[in-house]
Order: sequence, then structure tokens, then C-alpha cells
Amino acid sequence: MQTKFIFITGGVMSGLGKGVVSSSIAKLLQLSNQKVSCVKIDPYLNYDAGTMNPVAHGEVFVTDDGGECDMDIGNYERFLNQNIPKSHNITTAQIYSNVIEAERRGEYLGACVQIIPHITDEIKNRIRKIAEDEKLDILVVECGGTVGDIESLPFLEALRQIRTEDGPENVIFVHVTLAPSLDVVGEQKTKPTQHSVQELRRIGIQPDLLTVRCTSPLLEKTKKKISMFTNVSVKDVFSCHDVDSIFKVPQILYDQDLVNIIFKKFGMVGLVNASANWDKWNSIVNSIKKYEKTVNIAMVGKYVTLTDSYVSVNHALKHAGASIGKNVSIEWIDSETLDGNMEKLGNFDGILVPGGFGTRGSEGIIKTANFAREKNIPYLGICFGFQLAAVAFGRNVCGLNGANSTEVDPKTTNPVIDLLPEQKAVANMGGSLRLGANDINVKENSLAYKVYNSKFISKRHRHRFEFNKKYIDMFIEKGMVFSGESDNGKRMEILEIPSHKFFFGVQFHPEFSSRPGFPEEAFKAFLEAASSNSK
Ligand code: GLN
Repeated sequence: MQTKFIFITGGVMSGLGKGVVSSSIAKLLQLSNQKVSCVKIDPYLNYDAGTMNPVAHGEVFVTDDGGECDMDIGNYERFLNQNIPKSHNITTAQIYSNVIEAERRGEYLGACVQIIPHITDEIKNRIRKIAEDEKLDILVVECGGTVGDIESLPFLEALRQIRTEDGPENVIFVHVTLAPSLDVVGEQKTKPTQHSVQELRRIGIQPDLLTVRCTSPLLEKTKKKISMFTNVSVKDVFSCHDVDSIFKVPQILYDQDLVNIIFKKFGMVGLVNASANWDKWNSIVNSIKKYEKTVNIAMVGKYVTLTDSYVSVNHALKHAGASIGKNVSIEWIDSETLDGNMEKLGNFDGILVPGGFGTRGSEGIIKTANFAREKNIPYLGICFGFQLAAVAFGRNVCGLNGANSTEVDPKTTNPVIDLLPEQKAVANMGGSLRLGANDINVKENSLAYKVYNSKFISKRHRHRFEFNKKYIDMFIEKGMVFSGESDNGKRMEILEIPSHKFFFGVQFHPEFSSRPGFPEEAFKAFLEAASSNSK
């Protein structure tokens, strides 16, 4: 059976929530018994998101197979509750470097290598390969950026060609636009949508469906006007209005008959069992609501000016909160501004230190970890938060003067955290960290074992530094337990302090495997501890 494609393009401006629309459409089709997946095209020139600043671009999402991806991949995983491989995040650099390498090998047999057909063929091949390899019924492909961007042109051209080659019964274009309400009367403006569709048609793409972002539901008369100017029938113009949870978007689209309309366009009506199975999903969506009680968490980190920098951590806390029936209020605290002023952290039920890189703000994190330990406040340290908790323990409990991570202070006399040995020869920054899922052995009779209820777990990683085993005996003697290790005991993965209410550090990133309805265990245990600590 041939895979059907749904191509999602974006108009008017960025940040409209194309990722959520793509995930929601895929979710609806999954609920309607289709084997689906999502692909994200990022037209920027970076090879992957790994080298990008999270404050400018949002979190780097790590896949099981070690991809450093755009954060939309995280959305897809959370909506679909399935792992997405790194091949599903396509960038300009990946396409061009493949074509250039093939040219150097002489594979183009003397031809002049051009954007059309060589670059567009490479794009099409990648998309088709994913569809074939994974035997998908439907593949949703989201093209990043906004129509009119120079970078996205070759990608849109490739998508246009797929439509011509496979036919309209196999390919649908969905365009995400905006209908802003400007004045006090709140009239929904259609001009930006008109222009953006014109731009799309100029490059040969007539959208089949429009999902229009708006603050309140799109009025019938607005739909009619948009329809008239865009050549999209009224029933194919969808209101995508604001809701309190992104997980409600599939329902909104379903209520406007989206599944039926897609199935009709694909000629699937009568051929597939279209009765969506909503029960499980609805109970998950309904669990994400306002509860009576709230757990107050301080999130102390480096990239706090953009909430998207730690989007998976935020989600993971929400999933865990829903599972214990509590709201989670997260206060972001810039570790750089904390220095010396720890007292305000005492007002929180729990302290979380997420991942991070570099020297700036690290002293504040070390002091935070020490404060949490001394004041018996539940602490969850993730990656950098694990490493700097070890540094704090080294300095304050083991008496190791100037203890540090060599990432922060390369000349430290006590390198409690040091470069992974295999990293010493690595020169390139991109794609060279210890990445992706690795098996971890969990020690029985430990907090970690209580948390995970298993002797073996597999978790995603993204780091270059690790606990220096030279110091392990000293740490154990002073009351720290290393309750998770990997690579036959070579690497420390989990630390805990049994005499503490909840002091838990993990070298891996638990946030990437948390899903709505299936919270990651460390987050759940942390929130349980924090809520029993509630002030
Ligand atoms: N900077 C640290 C390292 O490279 C931690 C990385 C992280 O928190 N993701 O090991």
C-alpha cells in the first residue's frame, strides 16, 4: 500500500504552532487506527539542532537513537506516544552534504549538479524512504519556517513535486495561518491569510486545507471570506483557536470533521475503520487540568529567559503533577543572579536543576545543590544538575577544596567531574557528545530502585563530562550512594543521599521519555517528595 502524505506549511509568521497542528493531525489519524509518523524539515543551514543556543531556538530534543533534534520532535513523541528516529528531522545541511558527497564520488556522471533536480530528489528520497521503511499509512511532514523564506524554497518545491507525482488522492497540503483580531470590536482579519496563500500559490502549491490560528473560534463569515480569496472550500477552512492545553487541539479539529475530510480526499472512506478510539486519550487530556493543590518548584538553571529552552522538563513536571493530582507551579530562577542569596529557595517545595553547559551561572547551581542538601529540600538534578550536585558534595562534605567540573574550571585541583575519556580526542562540537539511549543498571535496595522498580532501565543522554571515579570511595564513605551505573560500572548514572528526604541526581535526561499519561518515574517521585514537603 502506498503511504499517503500530509504536508504542513506555515504562513504569516513563525510561532503559530505548526508543530502542534502537525502533531494533532497525526494524533487524530492515529486515533483513527492509521499507522502514522511525523517528519520535521528545518530549512536552516545547521546540520542539526545540537549546536544551537536553546535560548534563541528552544530546547535541543534528544531521540533514542542519539539525534539532537528540533523541539517539535518532542511534541510528536508526546502526542503520538511513540519514539521518533533522528532521520525524521531533515535539515538543509544534511541534504546538501549528501548531494555534495555524491558529486565528489562522481555519482552524477558528469551532470551539472543543481537544486532542481538533485537537491529536490534528495529531499524526496528521504521522505519516501521513511514512509517505505516504516510501512506507514500516513506520514505528516511539517516544513519549518514561513512561506516566502529563501531557505525553505527547495523543500516546498520537492513537496510540490511529490504531489504532482503521487496525485492529489495521495497528497494533501495543509497551510497554517493566522487571523488576528486587532480592534476592540475584535473583527477577525483575513488579509494575512490571503497573502500567505497567494505566496504559496506563486510557487505552485494550492493548499487543500487551512488551519487558521485565532484567539476565539473562527466565525462563519470569516471562514467564507478566507475561502473566497484562497480557493479553499469553506468546510476545509478550520478554526484553530486558543485552548488551555495543546492536547485539546486534536478534539477541536475532530469536531470540525477533519478526519472525515482527510479520508475523503484520500479516497479512504469505506476502506478503513474510521471510528476514533478516544477513551484513553481523553482520560489523559482530562487529567491535565486545574487541581486543588499545587506543588511549588524552583527551577534553577542557565537558560531561563525562554521557557522553550526546557520545554520537555516543563512537560515532564506537568505529566507527573497530573499523575499525583496536583498542579505544578514552576518558578524560573537564573542561577547567575542567585549567588549568595539562597534564602528564597527555602520557600519552595522542591528544587530542580536541569541540564546546562559552560561556566556562567555554575557557582549559583553548586550553591543551590548544597542548599537543597543542607536544608533537606527535595532535589532533582538532571545532567549538569547531577554533575554540579557532585561538585557541591565534594566541596562541602568531602572537604575537597576547589572541587569542580573541568568543564567549568579546567585547572581545578579536584576534578570531581571530568571529560569522558573517549571525548579527549574529539575536536568537532557538533554531534560528538555521548548521545541517545544507553542501558543503566540500577542497584537494588536504593531510592533509584524504588523509583524505577527495575534493575535495568534505558535512558537518553547528552553529555561530554561525567563523574570521576577516582573520587568514588571518598563520596561513598561520606554518605553518597551511586545507585545507577552503565558500561560495566565505568560510568556513574545516578546519585542519591539516603539520609536526605529526596536527593536524586541523574546523568541522563529523564524528561525526554516522559509522555502525557505516562510520567517519567524520577519526576513523579520528585513531585511526591516535594508535595509531602509542601509548606
Ligand atoms: N555540560 C555537561 C556535559 O557536557 C552537562 C550537559 C547537559 O546538562 N546536557 O557533560
